Amino acid sequence: MQTTFSLFINGQAVQGDRDAFPVINPATEEAFADCPAASPEQVDQAVAAAAEAFKTYQHTPDAERKAMLHKIADLIEANAEELARLVTLEQGKPLALAQMEVGGAIGWTRYTADLDIPVKLIEDSPERLVELHRKPLGVVGSITPWNWPLMIAVWHLMPAIRTGNTFVSKPSSFTPFSTLKLVELINQVVPAGVANIVTGEGGIGRAMTSHPNIQKIVFTGSTPTGQDIMRKAADNLKRLTLELGGNDAGIVLPDADLDKVAPAIFQTAFLNMGQTCAALKRLYVHESQYDDLCQRLAKIASEQKVGPGLDEGVTFGPVQNKAQFDLVSELVEDAKAQGGQILSGGAPLAGAGYFYPPTIVAGLSDGVRLVDEEQFGPVLPVVRYSDIDDAVARANNNVNGLGGSVWGTDIEAARKVASRLECGTAWINNHAEVLPHCPFGGCKMSGFGLEFGEEGLLEYTAPQLLNISRG
Ligand code: NDP
Repeated sequence: MQTTFSLFINGQAVQGDRDAFPVINPATEEAFADCPAASPEQVDQAVAAAAEAFKTYQHTPDAERKAMLHKIADLIEANAEELARLVTLEQGKPLALAQMEVGGAIGWTRYTADLDIPVKLIEDSPERLVELHRKPLGVVGSITPWNWPLMIAVWHLMPAIRTGNTFVSKPSSFTPFSTLKLVELINQVVPAGVANIVTGEGGIGRAMTSHPNIQKIVFTGSTPTGQDIMRKAADNLKRLTLELGGNDAGIVLPDADLDKVAPAIFQTAFLNMGQTCAALKRLYVHESQYDDLCQRLAKIASEQKVGPGLDEGVTFGPVQNKAQFDLVSELVEDAKAQGGQILSGGAPLAGAGYFYPPTIVAGLSDGVRLVDEEQFGPVLPVVRYSDIDDAVARANNNVNGLGGSVWGTDIEAARKVASRLECGTAWINNHAEVLPHCPFGGCKMSGFGLEFGEEGLLEYTAPQLLNISRG
């Protein structure tokens, strides 16, 4: 199988030095294209090109960088159809959701283009003028996962180049093509060497995290990989943004309007077949509404049309890869063995493809793997509670701290509960909503650092204090 995609190093499309590897379509379990594989020497070349380009790119006038990002957004828009199909083929999600992902990529690029890099006035007195400026860091290494491949690449790469850094991108080996295409488009706009991409199975990410000439790593993925990156980053004190796993809890208060919250809870728990870092992954429901809400969620689950993402009318695609599919199957089997009641789904579909229907499991409590661990897939455990303090304690009794939510009609009561959740974002009557202007990040083992908004942008800069003496 011939690959039609290339690495980009120093503005040039190049083939990988190693043998290309097949990328599987999760709807068929068959390879649909080959991906170029870079050698460690090509990682070095990409970093060297980015470091060389940084010398001049960092001084590009701000207005020019803003205009470049808008041009990139125009190109993403012009290639939207191809990008959406690529996302569906490599990731599995229904085409309509892939089109939303491309829309998000455009929106985030334009929003980032228009952000200003602030100069903070610290002192303006007869003695001195003191200002806090922001300077780019150098070469940024971006390592991305397989759930939202295009959008997360945009989240990493646009603030990097907006603030005057150069980058080397390394997408997940499961979903490399939409990012390869994105970086090809970026290369039509930025000077040679600013935007580099290296793909390859195993070792490429590690070569980047231990590289002495990369100044920052922005990573989205699993907590163990985040820990490995943090260890390696110590050698040259790389700055880090780590957006890791979550096991987000949602708490439904007794006064919640189930007509409203049931569809919203389903949407936010099963967004992208549940493969979303900040999806709702454990649901705590007050005993007064427990059975009712369980039945409603199971009904919505059973109405989904599960199938290949390119097929007409499909609302629910496959799990992205075999390992994740096996993990979901294993957690559901364990939940059954622990007394969980399957209200919908509960077993993989027969035939080719990693299809697992949306699964609602009732009758579980904490201490069962499906509740305690991140499932990152199409299954939601629904846990009964009777006392709100106990529900909050259970929601917080987890190593992760990405997001959390409270669902209820009395907003002030919900706000009080939300403020007690140990997580980076607390939603009320919503979950998993991320927006370009809202800083987003986790606490505890879900990582640190922020993305989006001015706070997210500044993570790609180092402060420089300018102190002008007037004495
Ligand atoms: P990983 O964290 O292993 O992979 C994510 C990215 O990191 C990929 O690009 C991968 O490259 C790269 N990588 C892997 N190991 C290293 C390393 N030691 N140093 C540097 N880079 C590395 O995630 P998985 O794909 O294995 O998924 C496993 C779990 O991660 C899921 O079950 C889920 O819980 C969680 N996850 C969380 C996501 C989130 O949004 N927070 C997204 C995806 C997964 P390569 O593909 O070449 O191995």
